[in-house]
Amino acid sequence: MDSPVFMQADPLIFVGVCDWAGIVRGKAFPEADSDVRLKKGVGLTHSNIMMSCFGPIYTTPFGTLGDLIIRPDPQMRIEVPFEGGTVERFYLGDIANTDGSAWEFCPRTFLARALEALAKFDLRVVASFEQEFMLTGVEDRPGATYALDSFRRQGPFGEALMGAMRTAGFKPDSFLPEYGPRQFEATIAAEEGLRAADAAVVLREMARAVAWRMDQRAIFSPMLEPDGIGNGTHIHMSLWDGSTPVTSDPDGTYGISERTAPFFAGVLAHLPALCAFTAPSMASYYRLMPNRWAPVHADLNTQDRGAALRVAPVFTASPEEPARQFNVEYRVADGSNCPYLALGAIIWAGVDGLARGLALPEPDAKAPLLPRSLEAALDALEADELAGSWWSPEAKSAYLTFKRAEIEALTDATPEEICERYAEVY
Ligand code: GLU
Ligand code: MG
Repeated sequence: MDSPVFMQADPLIFVGVCDWAGIVRGKAFPEADSDVRLKKGVGLTHSNIMMSCFGPIYTTPFGTLGDLIIRPDPQMRIEVPFEGGTVERFYLGDIANTDGSAWEFCPRTFLARALEALAKFDLRVVASFEQEFMLTGVEDRPGATYALDSFRRQGPFGEALMGAMRTAGFKPDSFLPEYGPRQFEATIAAEEGLRAADAAVVLREMARAVAWRMDQRAIFSPMLEPDGIGNGTHIHMSLWDGSTPVTSDPDGTYGISERTAPFFAGVLAHLPALCAFTAPSMASYYRLMPNRWAPVHADLNTQDRGAALRVAPVFTASPEEPARQFNVEYRVADGSNCPYLALGAIIWAGVDGLARGLALPEPDAKAPLLPRSLEAALDALEADELAGSWWSPEAKSAYLTFKRAEIEALTDATPEEICERYAEVY
């Protein structure tokens, strides 16, 4: 880029949180102050969590009151230099009270607590987010679906994105031209719980960072037009007891072990409520339609890309591989979500399944339909009493208010306008 270089520049480092709207927001401070800032954080107020994806705070139970801090996580310091001297330099962090205690509305804390609840069953989750997006600036040509020519035409983007992720400390897994016009998909190797969600957040940011430097945009919004091709964010998960993978059992129903089947049964049982976190925009529901390779039922099936939970295939390279590779893919998710809330809610639902010893439905059982709109998903969340215990009744109620205000803001919008509004944001 042709920007001037100021020799007296004082490096700034941003500290942000991927918030309820799924947007990384925060503040920057001089890097020279890092020692102090790592302890002290940067200031924030309670109503910040009510910032809608479109920007405005439509409504807030907190008003103008209160102080909080964003505390940078020293483990999540990202520094990725780009050509021309510009650097992506930021921390991801948690929102804490001014006395340092966790703030229960913090999405990253929501996930961290879910992981603690799972640990009571001596289980940990390893996950990978497979994310689809549209890249502007790539020519839409007939026949470009999955084509080597589409791959070629995205130019340096894919390699720059994978390189940025590797520099940021993650292991790139794959990059491909997808089915839709200008659609691509990027996946990072599976990581431990919290870090998997961090990786998803960083991947979205790095895709935006690379695209911005190419005068383009990487758009993760679930549907760019109501009848278009959907962008999914598929969450692959496996459960482990220490270093032993425990999800797979070749003799189990769907190949899932008796020990972990209740986890996935819990996810299915809470799926309507989970949609409010994993598919949390109005545009999400144009994607969750028949014939879109996206789910419409709260179902689980082996190698079925139309199922809500898909038992993914295993490609064997060694005898130990099958158990280590075995994973279940949650497909009712998209890029308008906050990865911490999404994975956190899935795990909370799984933990409930484990606590109650729920059984997976019989393979031929009829599965209920998923909510058909964000409004219906929020109603399902409201009706799901247990979901109040995942954080607190106050947080659940504030989240419902927050999302309902987003629907209200789009009252007069046509489906096309709704898709456009979200595509501007995500
Ligand atoms: N684009 C589809 C979705 O919206 C998924 C296609 C695939 O299976 O990769 O989820
Ligand atoms: Mg895909």
